[in-house]
Amino acid sequence: MARKVIALVDCDSFFVCCEQKVNPELKGKPVCVVSNKGGCVVSRSKEAKKMGIKMGEPLFMAKKDHPKGIYIVANHDLYSDISRQVMNKLREFSPTVEVYSIDEAFVDLTGLRRLYKMEYIDLASYIREQIKKELDINVSIGMSSSKSLAKLASDKAKRDDCGVYAINPRFAFEELKKTSIEEIWGIGRNLTQLFHRSGIITAYELVSQSDVWLDKKVGIRGVELKHELLGETVSPVSNEVKLPKSIQNTSALGTFTSDLNFIKNSLNYHIHRGCSKLRRLKAKCSVVSVMLRTKDFKVYVEKKNLEKPTCYEWEVSDIVFKLLENIYKPSVLYRSSGVMLDNITFNAAEQLFLFADSEEETKNQKLAKCLDSLENRFGKNVVKTGFTDRKGTD
Ligand SMILES: [Mg+2]
Repeated sequence: MARKVIALVDCDSFFVCCEQKVNPELKGKPVCVVSNKGGCVVSRSKEAKKMGIKMGEPLFMAKKDHPKGIYIVANHDLYSDISRQVMNKLREFSPTVEVYSIDEAFVDLTGLRRLYKMEYIDLASYIREQIKKELDINVSIGMSSSKSLAKLASDKAKRDDCGVYAINPRFAFEELKKTSIEEIWGIGRNLTQLFHRSGIITAYELVSQSDVWLDKKVGIRGVELKHELLGETVSPVSNEVKLPKSIQNTSALGTFTSDLNFIKNSLNYHIHRGCSKLRRLKAKCSVVSVMLRTKDFKVYVEKKNLEKPTCYEWEVSDIVFKLLENIYKPSVLYRSSGVMLDNITFNAAEQLFLFADSEEETKNQKLAKCLDSLENRFGKNVVKTGFTDRKGTD
């Protein structure tokens, strides 16, 4: 059987790269993105790395040791937006793209050499150049005949700063001899210790073990990993969209407050993020929960099962505000709020309902489409769904 050609496209210092894309003045500077929750460095530019700023370093320490660094609070809406653009660009090259994380995707390039009339390695370089040219995002690409080898190749591309790195499965042994097992995708600390105890240090030593031995020591995953490292496509690239079990959006209110309108506004922001994600996935949810955390860290949650699944802000908002009445107390100060959407299914699963109330559904669909296309054109949160304060209080 002909071998697969699988590329792992991995954005370089993705969060920093996004910030530099929207603010080109940051290019060539020691930029760090800092998580908005823990206040730790989560992404660094090359210059910041050179300066010695460590990944995961707390902000106050980084600032103290490297006052010349530029520290930016993470903007996840921006990163998801740009991530989608990158993934869509990849889909222009191949119909089979598996989004692995916000900044990584496996792309099946098998057979595309003929279409593009170039060698695979040149095709990978071409994809890389196009993403840079059109989206101003730097990526590294690793290529081989299995996901595990492609991942290993992309790590090497990053380390050598060469952009594209291919591992020819026929010569994979050479590469595996130079690779220690902890560098392999999916081998964490526990597995490393387990292998070390058996005297297995390099990836080459791992693939030299028998299937029976690996199955006994590690289980089927160990056997699969061996064959992936030998260049066999055990896990093919799949563009099937997997639905999340749950979509959760929570955040600090930024202040301690008992202001109901303020809390409702923050909930509306979460509802909007959740619902637009549902619509992107062409899915709906049928369980909605609201969460409030008090200043003293007490958590209150109210949940409702819906008769009719939804992906519309205005419907979820009605439910959430009703649930809120059961847990909100005007005398309590709150620190954070959140909305959880559960029991997520593809739209097709509820066609009967479509039939039952198609006029309302059509109206909802039109409104949502309008909202989404405005956001696509003018940026995230350009339109906000408001709420009507039915009690008329201020
Ligand atoms: Mg990356």
